[in-house]
Amino acid sequence: MYQKSRAWIELNMDNLSHNVNQIKKNLSPGCKLMPAVKANAYGHGMIPISKALAKMGITDFCVASATEGAMLRKAGIEGQILVLGYTHPKAFPQLARYDLTQTVVDACYAGILAGYGKPIKVHVSVDTGMRRLGERSDHLSSILSIWNYKTLSITGLFSHLCVADSADPLDVQFTLMQFQRFDAIVDALHQKGVGGFHTHIQSSYGFLNYPEYTYDYIRPGIVLYGCQSQPELCPRLELSLRPVLSLKSRLETIKWLLPGESAGYGLTYTADRPLMIGAVSIGYADGIPRSLSGKGYVLIHGKKAPIIGRICMDQLLCDVTEIPDAAPMDEVVLIGTSCSDKQEQCGRKEMIRVEDLAALCGTISNEILSCLGSRPPRVILSP
Ligand SMILES: *Cc1c(COP(=O)(O)O)cnc(C)c1O
Repeated sequence: MYQKSRAWIELNMDNLSHNVNQIKKNLSPGCKLMPAVKANAYGHGMIPISKALAKMGITDFCVASATEGAMLRKAGIEGQILVLGYTHPKAFPQLARYDLTQTVVDACYAGILAGYGKPIKVHVSVDTGMRRLGERSDHLSSILSIWNYKTLSITGLFSHLCVADSADPLDVQFTLMQFQRFDAIVDALHQKGVGGFHTHIQSSYGFLNYPEYTYDYIRPGIVLYGCQSQPELCPRLELSLRPVLSLKSRLETIKWLLPGESAGYGLTYTADRPLMIGAVSIGYADGIPRSLSGKGYVLIHGKKAPIIGRICMDQLLCDVTEIPDAAPMDEVVLIGTSCSDKQEQCGRKEMIRVEDLAALCGTISNEILSCLGSRPPRVILSP
């Protein structure tokens, strides 16, 4: 369908389904997916992505905040919704009202949460080395004490890996130690007669690099969306993943830039020859990092058009000299595939992966995606 927005995000749910199946094929029996749909499902759109996942049979989700959890419930998502982050005591009513599962971020927090008085479902977070959230795994008695609170219904115990994406031997050693510490605390709790909770520790790279470790859930984020965090990573488990998201915009104007003339804020770009330049209706408020100024390129008719000058809040300029048939209203691809042929069958094709953008900006795909703005509408591609 023709898009009339100034910029938009296309979601390919067939690719999402493909990725889910790829991951499921490599899971040991009994292990379930608990996708990370936090941060607006990494910019994709939390509601459309979660609804699509629910249709594929996914019943467990993780989010970063109680507010995100409440949004999912209001959109009709059922099943388990785990809030991975801290929830302020003033927001505890949200947990009860929307039947959210709260992370116990340490033993002290368990007391505060139990003090709310109403029954709350929780997963206990244990810190096996990242030193972020969770009670330290060597504090067995503190962890055990969480089971004393009668209003907390403890349905899970989990940890988080912090160097699972790395193949560096020291990082591998550290990750194996994290698994060991996690297994040890699970065993110790069982020995103390405490059980009946589900376990999970792997997110995307914990799963891809350590697929032989199996728990009750994995919490994939970035792989589910068909992306690598960084282009150079080559995880042990090689799945053929397909990107779910494309980011597109349109050419607004085309004009000459004469030799010696400069363009954009700060006049940072100066033409050394006559150039045809185009203004594109997308900017940093839509999530195109301003640090991409003068570095990246966009795709028009299956060809690269270098970004010139500084990226503006709502617009950017590109060099279309090599694309003589470029015209106002033509589609511009920021992330995704562009083809010279409208049917995308026989034409010349070019692709920009989010990993490429991330590398140019010196960051990871996760940041680029999760910082995509709320302004571009999310459009579900119909097959
Ligand atoms: C964000 C997050 C995930 C998902 O991470 P990916 O690397 O994108 O798979 C899993 N677990 C926790 C605790 C997280 O914060």
